[in-house]
Amino acid sequence: MAKVRTRIAPSPTGDPHVGTAYIALFNLCFAKQFDGEFILRIEDTDQSRSTPESEQAIYDSLRWLGLDWSEGPDIGGDFGPYRQSERKAIYEKHCQQLLDDGHAFYCYRTSEELDQLRAEAKETGSLQALKPSVLKLPEEEVAKRKAAGAPFVVRMNVPEEGECVFSDMLRGEITVEWSQVDAQILLKSDGMPTYHLANVVDDHLMEITHVLRGEEWINSAPKHQLLYKYFGWEMPELCHLPLLRNPDKSKLSKRKNPTSILYYQRMGFMPEAVINYLGRMGWSMPDESEKFDLQAMFDNFDIQRVSLGGPIFDVEKLKWLNGRWLREDLTIEQLAEKLQQWAFNEANLLPMLEHFQPRMDVYSDLAPAAGFLFSGMLPLTAEDFSKASKLEEDKLLEVLQFALWSLESLRVWEKDEIFSSLKALSGAMDVKLKDFLAPIFISIAGTTSSISVMDAMVLLGPDISRARVRHSIEVLGGLGKKKLKKLDKAYAGLST
Ligand code: GLU
Repeated sequence: MAKVRTRIAPSPTGDPHVGTAYIALFNLCFAKQFDGEFILRIEDTDQSRSTPESEQAIYDSLRWLGLDWSEGPDIGGDFGPYRQSERKAIYEKHCQQLLDDGHAFYCYRTSEELDQLRAEAKETGSLQALKPSVLKLPEEEVAKRKAAGAPFVVRMNVPEEGECVFSDMLRGEITVEWSQVDAQILLKSDGMPTYHLANVVDDHLMEITHVLRGEEWINSAPKHQLLYKYFGWEMPELCHLPLLRNPDKSKLSKRKNPTSILYYQRMGFMPEAVINYLGRMGWSMPDESEKFDLQAMFDNFDIQRVSLGGPIFDVEKLKWLNGRWLREDLTIEQLAEKLQQWAFNEANLLPMLEHFQPRMDVYSDLAPAAGFLFSGMLPLTAEDFSKASKLEEDKLLEVLQFALWSLESLRVWEKDEIFSSLKALSGAMDVKLKDFLAPIFISIAGTTSSISVMDAMVLLGPDISRARVRHSIEVLGGLGKKKLKKLDKAYAGLST
Protein backbone atom coordinates (compact mmCIF):
# COMPACT_ATOMS: atom_id res chain seq x y z
CA MET A 1 0.00 0.00 0.00
CA ALA A 2 1.18 3.51 -0.78
CA LYS A 3 2.25 5.56 2.19
CA VAL A 4 -0.83 7.01 3.84
CA ARG A 5 -1.01 10.78 3.46
CA THR A 6 -3.88 12.81 4.86
CA ARG A 7 -4.40 16.52 4.92
CA ILE A 8 -6.40 19.34 6.36
CA ALA A 9 -7.20 22.05 3.84
CA PRO A 10 -8.73 25.02 5.64
CA SER A 11 -9.60 28.29 4.00
CA PRO A 12 -8.06 31.22 5.88
CA THR A 13 -11.24 33.22 6.33
CA GLY A 14 -12.51 34.37 9.71
CA ASP A 15 -11.70 32.69 12.99
CA PRO A 16 -10.10 29.24 13.22
CA HIS A 17 -13.09 26.96 13.67
CA VAL A 18 -13.42 24.09 16.14
CA GLY A 19 -14.71 22.08 13.17
CA THR A 20 -11.31 22.52 11.51
CA ALA A 21 -9.57 21.21 14.63
CA TYR A 22 -11.97 18.26 14.79
CA ILE A 23 -11.29 17.29 11.16
CA ALA A 24 -7.54 17.86 11.66
CA LEU A 25 -7.57 15.58 14.72
CA PHE A 26 -9.18 12.70 12.82
CA ASN A 27 -6.85 13.13 9.84
CA LEU A 28 -3.85 13.16 12.13
CA CYS A 29 -5.00 10.06 14.02
CA PHE A 30 -5.69 8.22 10.78
CA ALA A 31 -2.24 9.07 9.40
CA LYS A 32 -0.56 8.03 12.67
CA GLN A 33 -2.40 4.72 12.69
CA PHE A 34 -0.71 3.83 9.39
CA ASP A 35 2.60 5.52 10.07
CA GLY A 36 1.73 8.06 7.45
CA GLU A 37 1.97 11.83 7.07
CA PHE A 38 -0.52 14.51 7.96
CA ILE A 39 -0.11 17.72 6.01
CA LEU A 40 -1.58 21.21 6.08
CA ARG A 41 -2.63 23.01 2.93
CA ILE A 42 -4.06 26.50 2.85
CA GLU A 43 -6.97 26.88 0.42
CA ASP A 44 -6.96 30.60 -0.21
CA THR A 45 -8.40 30.78 -3.70
CA ASP A 46 -11.12 33.10 -2.46
CA GLN A 47 -8.87 36.13 -2.47
CA SER A 48 -11.51 38.55 -1.29
CA ARG A 49 -12.10 36.65 1.96
CA SER A 50 -8.70 35.16 2.75
CA THR A 51 -6.42 37.03 5.14
CA PRO A 52 -2.91 36.46 6.46
CA GLU A 53 -4.20 37.01 10.02
CA SER A 54 -6.65 34.18 9.61
CA GLU A 55 -3.94 31.93 8.17
CA GLN A 56 -1.70 32.68 11.15
CA ALA A 57 -4.58 31.99 13.53
CA ILE A 58 -5.00 28.53 11.95
CA TYR A 59 -1.34 27.73 12.63
CA ASP A 60 -1.45 29.11 16.17
CA SER A 61 -4.63 27.38 17.18
CA LEU A 62 -3.77 23.97 15.73
CA ARG A 63 -0.33 24.16 17.37
CA TRP A 64 -1.90 25.17 20.66
CA LEU A 65 -3.94 21.97 20.46
CA GLY A 66 -0.85 19.93 19.62
CA LEU A 67 -2.12 18.92 16.16
CA ASP A 68 1.19 19.01 14.33
CA TRP A 69 1.62 18.64 10.58
CA SER A 70 4.74 17.44 8.80
CA GLU A 71 4.39 19.59 5.67
CA GLY A 72 2.73 22.96 5.24
CA PRO A 73 3.12 26.55 4.00
CA ASP A 74 4.94 27.55 7.16
CA ILE A 75 7.38 24.62 7.28
CA GLY A 76 7.68 23.59 3.64
CA GLY A 77 7.96 20.03 2.34
CA ASP A 78 8.54 18.10 -0.87
CA PHE A 79 5.13 18.76 -2.39
CA GLY A 80 4.91 22.56 -2.07
CA PRO A 81 3.93 25.24 -2.41
CA TYR A 82 1.23 24.43 0.11
CA ARG A 83 -0.69 27.68 -0.31
CA GLN A 84 -3.08 27.54 -3.24
CA SER A 85 -2.63 31.18 -4.22
CA GLU A 86 0.97 30.25 -5.10
CA ARG A 87 -0.09 27.43 -7.39
CA LYS A 88 -2.07 29.38 -9.97
CA ALA A 89 0.05 28.24 -12.92
CA ILE A 90 -0.44 24.60 -11.95
CA TYR A 91 -4.23 24.96 -12.01
CA GLU A 92 -4.18 26.89 -15.30
CA LYS A 93 -2.16 24.15 -16.91
CA HIS A 94 -4.53 21.46 -15.70
CA CYS A 95 -7.57 23.46 -16.69
CA GLN A 96 -6.12 23.86 -20.19
CA GLN A 97 -5.66 20.12 -20.36
CA LEU A 98 -9.36 19.61 -19.59
CA LEU A 99 -10.30 22.16 -22.26
CA ASP A 100 -8.04 20.50 -24.83
CA ASP A 101 -9.52 17.10 -24.06
CA GLY A 102 -13.08 18.39 -24.38
CA HIS A 103 -13.86 17.87 -20.69
CA ALA A 104 -14.39 21.55 -20.01
CA PHE A 105 -15.75 24.54 -21.88
CA TYR A 106 -15.58 28.33 -21.85
CA CYS A 107 -18.79 29.82 -20.52
CA TYR A 108 -19.65 33.40 -21.43
CA ARG A 109 -23.06 33.46 -19.80
CA THR A 110 -23.84 36.72 -18.03
CA SER A 111 -25.15 36.71 -14.47
CA GLU A 112 -28.57 37.89 -15.72
CA GLU A 113 -28.70 34.95 -18.11
CA LEU A 114 -27.70 32.58 -15.33
CA ASP A 115 -30.42 33.94 -13.05
CA GLN A 116 -32.94 33.40 -15.78
CA LEU A 117 -31.72 29.87 -16.52
CA ARG A 118 -31.97 29.05 -12.85
CA ALA A 119 -35.48 30.46 -12.63
CA GLU A 120 -36.48 28.42 -15.69
CA ALA A 121 -34.93 25.28 -14.23
CA LYS A 122 -36.86 25.86 -11.02
CA GLU A 123 -40.11 26.23 -12.93
CA THR A 124 -39.76 22.98 -14.82
CA GLY A 125 -38.98 21.38 -11.47
CA SER A 126 -37.17 18.28 -12.61
CA LEU A 127 -33.75 19.67 -13.47
CA GLN A 128 -32.39 21.85 -10.73
CA ALA A 129 -28.78 21.88 -11.75
CA LEU A 130 -27.36 23.96 -14.56
CA LYS A 131 -26.32 21.44 -17.17
CA PRO A 132 -23.86 21.95 -20.04
CA SER A 133 -26.63 21.53 -22.61
CA VAL A 134 -28.44 24.51 -21.14
CA LEU A 135 -25.38 26.64 -20.53
CA LYS A 136 -23.56 26.21 -23.80
CA LEU A 137 -24.08 29.03 -26.28
CA PRO A 138 -23.93 28.57 -30.06
CA GLU A 139 -20.36 28.72 -31.36
CA GLU A 140 -20.87 32.05 -33.19
CA GLU A 141 -22.19 33.61 -30.00
CA VAL A 142 -19.18 32.37 -28.05
CA ALA A 143 -16.88 33.81 -30.74
CA LYS A 144 -18.73 37.12 -30.67
CA ARG A 145 -18.51 37.47 -26.90
CA LYS A 146 -14.89 36.40 -26.92
CA ALA A 147 -14.04 39.01 -29.57
CA ALA A 148 -15.79 41.65 -27.45
CA GLY A 149 -13.56 40.70 -24.52
CA ALA A 150 -16.49 39.59 -22.38
CA PRO A 151 -15.68 37.97 -19.02
CA PHE A 152 -15.82 34.19 -18.96
CA VAL A 153 -15.38 31.19 -16.71
CA VAL A 154 -14.36 27.64 -17.48
CA ARG A 155 -16.85 24.94 -16.54
CA MET A 156 -16.59 21.18 -16.51
CA ASN A 157 -18.69 18.89 -18.63
CA VAL A 158 -20.97 16.66 -16.59
CA PRO A 159 -23.27 13.90 -17.78
CA GLU A 160 -26.86 15.00 -18.33
CA GLU A 161 -28.37 11.83 -16.92
CA GLY A 162 -27.61 8.52 -15.29
CA GLU A 163 -26.17 7.83 -11.87
CA CYS A 164 -22.89 8.58 -10.21
CA VAL A 165 -21.81 6.02 -7.64
CA PHE A 166 -18.92 6.68 -5.29
CA SER A 167 -17.90 5.13 -2.05
CA ASP A 168 -17.34 6.56 1.36
CA MET A 169 -15.31 4.81 4.04
CA LEU A 170 -18.10 5.18 6.60
CA ARG A 171 -21.21 5.19 4.47
CA GLY A 172 -20.44 2.64 1.79
CA GLU A 173 -21.79 3.34 -1.68
CA ILE A 174 -23.53 6.63 -2.31
CA THR A 175 -25.57 7.23 -5.44
CA VAL A 176 -26.30 10.66 -6.88
CA GLU A 177 -28.32 11.43 -10.00
CA TRP A 178 -26.16 13.25 -12.54
CA SER A 179 -29.16 15.42 -13.35
CA GLN A 180 -28.60 17.04 -9.93
CA VAL A 181 -24.98 17.96 -10.62
CA ASP A 182 -24.05 21.36 -12.04
CA ALA A 183 -21.57 22.01 -14.82
CA GLN A 184 -19.24 23.20 -12.06
CA ILE A 185 -17.10 26.29 -12.59
CA LEU A 186 -13.45 25.28 -12.52
CA LEU A 187 -11.75 28.56 -13.30
CA LYS A 188 -13.35 31.80 -12.17
CA SER A 189 -13.44 35.02 -14.18
CA ASP A 190 -10.55 36.36 -12.07
CA GLY A 191 -8.40 33.48 -13.29
CA MET A 192 -8.40 31.73 -9.92
CA PRO A 193 -9.49 28.11 -9.70
CA THR A 194 -12.54 27.12 -7.70
CA TYR A 195 -12.23 24.85 -4.69
CA HIS A 196 -13.12 21.82 -6.82
CA LEU A 197 -10.36 22.12 -9.40
CA ALA A 198 -7.68 23.19 -6.94
CA ASN A 199 -8.62 20.58 -4.38
CA VAL A 200 -8.52 17.67 -6.84
CA VAL A 201 -5.30 18.79 -8.51
CA ASP A 202 -3.60 19.34 -5.16
CA ASP A 203 -4.78 16.16 -3.52
CA HIS A 204 -3.38 14.28 -6.50
CA LEU A 205 -0.08 16.14 -6.77
CA MET A 206 0.42 16.03 -3.01
CA GLU A 207 -0.21 12.27 -3.13
CA ILE A 208 -3.04 12.37 -0.64
CA THR A 209 -4.37 8.85 -0.18
CA HIS A 210 -7.30 9.47 2.15
CA VAL A 211 -9.54 12.51 2.28
CA LEU A 212 -11.27 12.81 5.64
CA ARG A 213 -13.48 15.88 5.62
CA GLY A 214 -16.81 17.22 6.84
CA GLU A 215 -20.00 15.76 5.47
CA GLU A 216 -20.93 19.09 3.92
CA TRP A 217 -18.62 18.10 1.05
CA ILE A 218 -20.46 14.92 0.09
CA ASN A 219 -22.25 16.71 -2.73
CA SER A 220 -18.92 17.68 -4.24
CA ALA A 221 -17.75 14.08 -4.49
CA PRO A 222 -19.41 13.31 -7.87
CA LYS A 223 -17.67 16.30 -9.46
CA HIS A 224 -14.37 15.35 -7.91
CA GLN A 225 -14.70 11.74 -9.01
CA LEU A 226 -15.38 12.91 -12.55
CA LEU A 227 -12.36 15.23 -12.50
CA TYR A 228 -10.11 12.36 -11.38
CA LYS A 229 -11.50 10.34 -14.25
CA TYR A 230 -10.93 13.15 -16.77
CA PHE A 231 -7.32 13.48 -15.62
CA GLY A 232 -6.85 9.72 -15.57
CA TRP A 233 -5.88 9.75 -11.90
CA GLU A 234 -6.79 7.46 -9.07
CA MET A 235 -9.11 9.08 -6.58
CA PRO A 236 -8.14 9.06 -2.90
CA GLU A 237 -10.44 7.19 -0.52
CA LEU A 238 -13.18 9.48 0.73
CA CYS A 239 -14.47 9.68 4.25
CA HIS A 240 -17.07 12.24 5.21
CA LEU A 241 -17.18 12.86 8.94
CA PRO A 242 -20.39 13.85 10.66
CA LEU A 243 -20.82 17.57 11.26
CA LEU A 244 -20.60 18.97 14.76
CA ARG A 245 -23.92 20.19 16.08
CA ASN A 246 -25.28 22.62 18.63
CA PRO A 247 -27.12 21.05 21.58
CA ASP A 248 -30.39 21.68 19.69
CA LYS A 249 -29.00 19.49 16.86
CA SER A 250 -28.66 22.35 14.38
CA LYS A 251 -25.32 22.74 12.61
CA LEU A 252 -22.70 24.17 14.98
CA SER A 253 -22.98 27.93 14.67
CA LYS A 254 -21.37 30.81 16.45
CA ARG A 255 -24.77 32.24 17.35
CA LYS A 256 -25.39 29.29 19.65
CA ASN A 257 -21.89 28.20 20.59
CA PRO A 258 -18.51 29.84 20.45
CA THR A 259 -16.87 28.26 17.40
CA SER A 260 -13.47 29.91 17.38
CA ILE A 261 -10.64 27.82 18.84
CA LEU A 262 -9.09 31.04 20.08
CA TYR A 263 -12.15 31.62 22.22
CA TYR A 264 -11.45 28.41 24.12
CA GLN A 265 -7.84 29.39 24.55
CA ARG A 266 -8.76 32.84 25.84
CA MET A 267 -11.41 31.36 28.14
CA GLY A 268 -8.73 29.31 29.81
CA PHE A 269 -9.59 25.84 28.57
CA MET A 270 -6.78 23.30 28.51
CA PRO A 271 -5.80 22.11 25.04
CA GLU A 272 -5.70 18.52 26.37
CA ALA A 273 -9.36 18.78 27.35
CA VAL A 274 -10.41 20.33 24.04
CA ILE A 275 -8.63 17.56 22.11
CA ASN A 276 -10.15 14.96 24.43
CA TYR A 277 -13.61 16.40 23.84
CA LEU A 278 -13.16 16.66 20.06
CA GLY A 279 -11.98 13.05 20.10
CA ARG A 280 -15.33 12.11 21.55
CA MET A 281 -17.23 13.73 18.72
CA GLY A 282 -18.62 10.67 17.01
CA TRP A 283 -15.71 8.51 18.14
CA SER A 284 -15.07 6.54 21.28
CA MET A 285 -12.25 4.59 22.86
CA PRO A 286 -12.62 0.81 22.68
CA ASP A 287 -13.19 0.78 26.46
CA GLU A 288 -15.55 3.79 26.18
CA SER A 289 -13.40 5.80 28.59
CA GLU A 290 -14.31 9.45 28.76
CA LYS A 291 -10.94 10.89 29.51
CA PHE A 292 -7.98 10.18 27.24
CA ASP A 293 -5.06 12.02 25.73
CA LEU A 294 -3.89 12.40 22.15
CA GLN A 295 -1.39 9.56 22.43
CA ALA A 296 -4.09 7.20 23.69
CA MET A 297 -6.21 8.25 20.74
CA PHE A 298 -3.31 7.53 18.34
CA ASP A 299 -2.83 4.14 19.93
CA ASN A 300 -6.47 3.14 19.68
CA PHE A 301 -7.66 4.89 16.57
CA ASP A 302 -9.95 3.11 14.18
CA ILE A 303 -11.99 5.17 11.74
CA GLN A 304 -14.69 2.52 11.70
CA ARG A 305 -15.49 3.46 15.29
CA VAL A 306 -16.88 6.78 14.05
CA SER A 307 -20.65 6.78 14.36
CA LEU A 308 -22.66 8.86 11.93
CA GLY A 309 -25.22 10.38 14.30
CA GLY A 310 -24.45 14.12 14.48
CA PRO A 311 -22.11 14.64 17.45
CA ILE A 312 -23.22 17.37 19.83
CA PHE A 313 -20.64 19.96 20.78
CA ASP A 314 -21.82 21.04 24.20
CA VAL A 315 -19.71 23.69 25.90
CA GLU A 316 -21.04 22.69 29.33
CA LYS A 317 -19.80 19.13 28.84
CA LEU A 318 -16.48 20.39 27.57
CA LYS A 319 -16.20 22.55 30.65
CA TRP A 320 -16.95 19.59 32.88
CA LEU A 321 -14.26 17.55 31.14
CA ASN A 322 -11.83 20.45 31.39
CA GLY A 323 -12.51 20.56 35.12
CA ARG A 324 -11.45 16.94 35.38
CA TRP A 325 -8.22 17.62 33.52
CA LEU A 326 -7.52 20.69 35.61
CA ARG A 327 -8.15 18.98 38.94
CA GLU A 328 -6.85 15.50 38.19
CA ASP A 329 -3.83 16.15 36.02
CA LEU A 330 -2.21 19.31 37.31
CA THR A 331 -0.19 19.67 40.47
CA ILE A 332 -0.57 23.01 42.24
CA GLU A 333 2.80 24.03 40.77
CA GLN A 334 1.66 23.10 37.28
CA LEU A 335 -1.61 24.96 37.72
CA ALA A 336 0.33 28.05 38.76
CA GLU A 337 2.49 27.71 35.69
CA LYS A 338 -0.52 27.25 33.39
CA LEU A 339 -2.19 30.33 34.83
CA GLN A 340 0.94 32.33 34.23
CA GLN A 341 1.09 31.17 30.65
CA TRP A 342 -2.58 31.96 30.24
CA ALA A 343 -2.81 35.51 31.61
CA PHE A 344 -0.53 36.26 34.52
CA ASN A 345 2.52 37.11 32.51
CA GLU A 346 4.18 40.36 31.50
CA ALA A 347 3.03 40.28 27.91
CA ASN A 348 -0.55 40.24 29.08
CA LEU A 349 -0.22 42.42 32.19
CA LEU A 350 1.81 45.33 30.85
CA PRO A 351 -0.73 46.65 28.34
CA MET A 352 -3.40 46.20 31.00
CA LEU A 353 -1.52 48.01 33.74
CA GLU A 354 -0.97 50.95 31.46
CA HIS A 355 -4.69 51.60 31.74
CA PHE A 356 -5.10 50.76 35.41
CA GLN A 357 -2.12 52.47 37.00
CA PRO A 358 -3.77 55.91 36.70
CA ARG A 359 -6.78 54.52 38.57
CA MET A 360 -4.87 52.82 41.40
CA ASP A 361 -3.81 54.03 44.83
CA VAL A 362 -2.84 50.70 46.31
CA TYR A 363 -2.07 47.37 44.66
CA SER A 364 -5.27 45.85 45.94
CA ASP A 365 -7.27 48.24 43.77
CA LEU A 366 -6.34 46.14 40.78
CA ALA A 367 -8.37 42.97 41.24
CA PRO A 368 -11.80 44.62 41.64
CA ALA A 369 -11.13 47.01 38.76
CA ALA A 370 -9.57 44.58 36.31
CA GLY A 371 -11.36 41.39 37.30
CA PHE A 372 -13.48 41.48 34.17
CA LEU A 373 -10.35 41.07 32.07
CA PHE A 374 -9.67 37.70 33.69
CA SER A 375 -13.24 36.44 33.46
CA GLY A 376 -15.39 34.52 31.05
CA MET A 377 -19.01 35.60 30.65
CA LEU A 378 -20.06 38.26 33.16
CA PRO A 379 -22.96 37.67 35.57
CA LEU A 380 -25.22 40.33 34.00
CA THR A 381 -28.94 40.93 34.33
CA ALA A 382 -31.36 42.90 32.15
CA GLU A 383 -31.43 45.49 34.94
CA ASP A 384 -27.74 46.22 34.50
CA PHE A 385 -28.59 47.44 31.02
CA SER A 386 -31.70 49.39 31.86
CA LYS A 387 -29.86 51.18 34.68
CA ALA A 388 -27.02 52.21 32.41
CA SER A 389 -28.97 53.20 29.34
CA LYS A 390 -32.09 55.12 28.54
CA LEU A 391 -32.70 53.13 25.37
CA GLU A 392 -35.79 50.94 25.19
CA GLU A 393 -35.14 47.21 25.40
CA ASP A 394 -35.83 46.67 21.69
CA LYS A 395 -33.41 49.41 20.79
CA LEU A 396 -30.82 47.97 23.17
CA LEU A 397 -31.06 44.64 21.43
CA GLU A 398 -30.77 46.34 18.07
CA VAL A 399 -27.69 48.26 19.15
CA LEU A 400 -26.04 45.12 20.51
CA GLN A 401 -26.84 42.99 17.50
CA PHE A 402 -25.67 45.62 15.02
CA ALA A 403 -22.53 46.22 17.08
CA LEU A 404 -21.91 42.48 17.10
CA TRP A 405 -22.18 42.24 13.33
CA SER A 406 -19.91 45.18 12.96
CA LEU A 407 -17.36 43.68 15.39
CA GLU A 408 -17.56 40.37 13.59
CA SER A 409 -16.69 41.95 10.29
CA LEU A 410 -13.55 43.66 11.61
CA ARG A 411 -10.39 42.12 10.29
CA VAL A 412 -8.02 44.18 12.34
CA TRP A 413 -8.67 44.24 16.07
CA GLU A 414 -7.25 47.62 16.98
CA LYS A 415 -8.63 50.49 18.97
CA ASP A 416 -9.01 52.91 16.06
CA GLU A 417 -10.72 50.37 13.83
CA ILE A 418 -13.12 49.31 16.56
CA PHE A 419 -13.93 52.89 17.44
CA SER A 420 -14.47 54.12 13.93
CA SER A 421 -16.73 51.23 13.01
CA LEU A 422 -18.85 51.67 16.14
CA LYS A 423 -18.97 55.43 15.69
CA ALA A 424 -20.09 55.04 12.08
CA LEU A 425 -22.74 52.61 13.22
CA SER A 426 -24.10 54.91 15.91
CA GLY A 427 -24.26 57.70 13.32
CA ALA A 428 -26.06 55.52 10.81
CA MET A 429 -28.52 54.40 13.50
CA ASP A 430 -28.97 57.95 14.68
CA VAL A 431 -28.22 57.03 18.30
CA LYS A 432 -25.96 59.34 20.31
CA LEU A 433 -22.53 57.79 20.71
CA LYS A 434 -22.78 57.83 24.50
CA ASP A 435 -26.13 56.03 24.47
CA PHE A 436 -24.88 53.66 21.85
CA LEU A 437 -21.74 52.71 23.75
CA ALA A 438 -23.41 52.26 27.17
CA PRO A 439 -24.86 48.77 26.52
CA ILE A 440 -21.60 47.71 24.90
CA PHE A 441 -19.75 48.96 27.96
CA ILE A 442 -22.00 46.86 30.21
CA SER A 443 -21.54 43.81 27.99
CA ILE A 444 -17.78 44.07 27.99
CA ALA A 445 -16.91 45.37 31.46
CA GLY A 446 -20.11 44.96 33.47
CA THR A 447 -20.06 48.67 34.31
CA THR A 448 -19.77 51.97 32.50
CA SER A 449 -17.17 53.30 34.93
CA SER A 450 -14.15 51.40 33.77
CA ILE A 451 -11.36 52.01 31.29
CA SER A 452 -12.44 52.94 27.77
CA VAL A 453 -14.56 50.17 26.31
CA MET A 454 -12.41 50.21 23.18
CA ASP A 455 -9.29 49.57 25.25
CA ALA A 456 -11.09 46.85 27.16
CA MET A 457 -12.04 45.13 23.92
CA VAL A 458 -8.49 45.28 22.63
CA LEU A 459 -7.22 43.76 25.89
CA LEU A 460 -9.86 41.03 25.88
CA GLY A 461 -9.36 40.20 22.23
CA PRO A 462 -12.05 39.70 19.59
CA ASP A 463 -13.25 36.26 20.70
CA ILE A 464 -14.20 37.06 24.27
CA SER A 465 -15.45 40.54 23.33
CA ARG A 466 -17.82 39.22 20.70
CA ALA A 467 -18.92 36.36 22.93
CA ARG A 468 -19.80 38.84 25.66
CA VAL A 469 -21.92 40.93 23.33
CA ARG A 470 -23.64 37.73 22.17
CA HIS A 471 -24.15 36.73 25.79
CA SER A 472 -25.71 40.13 26.57
CA ILE A 473 -28.22 39.67 23.78
CA GLU A 474 -29.27 36.43 25.47
CA VAL A 475 -29.42 38.16 28.87
CA LEU A 476 -31.84 40.65 27.34
CA GLY A 477 -34.14 37.88 26.15
CA GLY A 478 -32.41 36.97 22.89
CA LEU A 479 -33.51 37.43 19.32
CA GLY A 480 -35.74 34.92 17.56
CA LYS A 481 -35.23 33.96 13.94
CA LYS A 482 -37.89 36.36 12.72
CA LYS A 483 -36.55 39.36 14.59
CA LEU A 484 -33.05 38.54 13.52
CA LYS A 485 -34.07 38.43 9.89
CA LYS A 486 -35.73 41.81 10.23
CA LEU A 487 -32.65 43.25 11.88
CA ASP A 488 -30.43 41.73 9.25
CA LYS A 489 -32.36 43.60 6.59
CA ALA A 490 -32.24 46.85 8.50
CA TYR A 491 -28.51 46.41 9.08
CA ALA A 492 -27.87 45.78 5.39
CA GLY A 493 -29.81 48.97 4.62
CA LEU A 494 -27.68 51.16 6.90
CA SER A 495 -25.14 53.36 5.22
CA THR A 496 -22.05 53.21 7.38
N1 GLU B 1 -11.15 24.33 1.82
C1 GLU B 1 -12.14 23.38 2.24
C2 GLU B 1 -12.59 23.82 3.63
O1 GLU B 1 -12.47 24.97 3.92
C3 GLU B 1 -11.56 22.00 2.27
C4 GLU B 1 -12.57 20.89 2.13
C5 GLU B 1 -11.88 19.57 1.89
O2 GLU B 1 -11.29 19.06 2.83
O3 GLU B 1 -11.91 19.08 0.76
O4 GLU B 1 -13.10 23.10 4.44
